[in-house]
Amino acid sequence: MQDYDYDVIIVGAGPGGSMAAKTAAEAGLDVLLIEKRQEIGAPVRCAEGVSREVLEEFFEIEKSWIAKEVVGAIIYSPDGTQIKMTAKMAGNEVGFVLERKIFDRALARMAARAGADVLVKTTATSMKRSENGVEVELRRMGERFSMKSKLVIGADGVESRVGKWAGIDTTVKIGEIESCVQYLMTGIEFDADYTHFWLGNRYAPGGYIWLFPKGENTANVGIGVLPTKTKKGPKSHLDKFIEERYPEGEIIEVVAGGVPVTGPIETAVADNVMLVGDAARHADPMTGGGIANAIKGGYFAGKVAKEAIDANDFSKEFLRRYDEMWKNDFGETLRRNKIIQKKMLKMDDETINKLMKSISGYDLEQISFRRLMIEMIKKNPRLLWDLRDLFF
Ligand SMILES: Cc1cc2nc3c(=O)[nH]c(=O)nc-3n(C[C@H](O)[C@H](O)[C@H](O)COP(=O)(O)OP(=O)(O)OC[C@H]3O[C@@H](n4cnc5c(N)ncnc54)[C@H](O)[C@@H]3O)c2cc1C
Repeated sequence: MQDYDYDVIIVGAGPGGSMAAKTAAEAGLDVLLIEKRQEIGAPVRCAEGVSREVLEEFFEIEKSWIAKEVVGAIIYSPDGTQIKMTAKMAGNEVGFVLERKIFDRALARMAARAGADVLVKTTATSMKRSENGVEVELRRMGERFSMKSKLVIGADGVESRVGKWAGIDTTVKIGEIESCVQYLMTGIEFDADYTHFWLGNRYAPGGYIWLFPKGENTANVGIGVLPTKTKKGPKSHLDKFIEERYPEGEIIEVVAGGVPVTGPIETAVADNVMLVGDAARHADPMTGGGIANAIKGGYFAGKVAKEAIDANDFSKEFLRRYDEMWKNDFGETLRRNKIIQKKMLKMDDETINKLMKSISGYDLEQISFRRLMIEMIKKNPRLLWDLRDLFF
């Protein structure tokens, strides 16, 4: 008989890891959640936008998590054409702007309350399989030790190493990682009922600029660019935009980070291991948003962990049911949005202007995203005909 310290060790206490820990602990498993940073949720590397639906589906929402609620999104094309979308239509990143410092911590607290052990300032440095389980090497304030478990859930974000250790192919090719910089700005004027997005090479080659309100005059203003599309770094593009648009603003926080925009990977499991969130490349390739899918993936992985423990089966074949769950839920959207993202990358600013103008007269309160895409394809068949199978 092998001794295990835990049923499941979860690496990384972002939304994906904490959700997995909460779900598994609530199901009665022995769970260890480890986080390399000394504070869960800080520093924040995120614009903090998430849809109301996803939060409502999984939590009793607490006021303190929410910096601002918005009713929709305004999209600006390079020539200034605007379209307004309702929050529902705008997708997984529009509805609430979170205080992730508070939200991430609240999620970890829920996991702890459900019975998970939490270790901060603890880094997983390697992992090896041992008999029917896994041994994870850990480093904590200079001390090295190891823990054994039946399962490991890798929720270690964009720079994930758990996937590599387990032999899961999570390769991010050059041109598939958005390079992002974001300022928390104050003293600026904008419509705080909406999140704002600026498209086109004029602003952000291979990505977009966003403004997510955190209050009346305060917002996360950031940019993602594809390094294959511009020689300048994201900061230089963002500074130019701010100089033009918000010269009066003050920057009170700066963050930088990468977002993988690979589209869905073939599998997020190996023997004894599941990956969730950014580690599983579950961020949306069109928007870069990953909070919602990290929460969902964490939930599915926690559920499957319980089933695996009950069946005493930690094989890749058994854990494939986790793949089925995330693929059935958001896999198709990842696939579709990867195709749209690739298409958009080929568009010049004039084409973006033309497409936006073609739908600028629609009442977007009354129309679904699918319907809007169908209309756009019908009005611009030469440009978009190859997308028809995704929507008709
Ligand atoms: C600038 C920027 C803006 C963004 N804006 C949005 C947005 O508005 N909306 C949205 O939905 N998404 C946004 N995203 C993406 C979003 O932040 C991620 O998709 C989301 O945080 C993924 O959650 P996660 O739990 O998978 O990973 P993370 O939140 O990255 O958490 C991973 C955790 O694992 C820890 N960790 C890593 N390695 C180890 C290790 N070896 N040992 C122990 N701990 C480890 C890390 O310290 C980290 O806390 C943005 C990303 C960036 C960079």
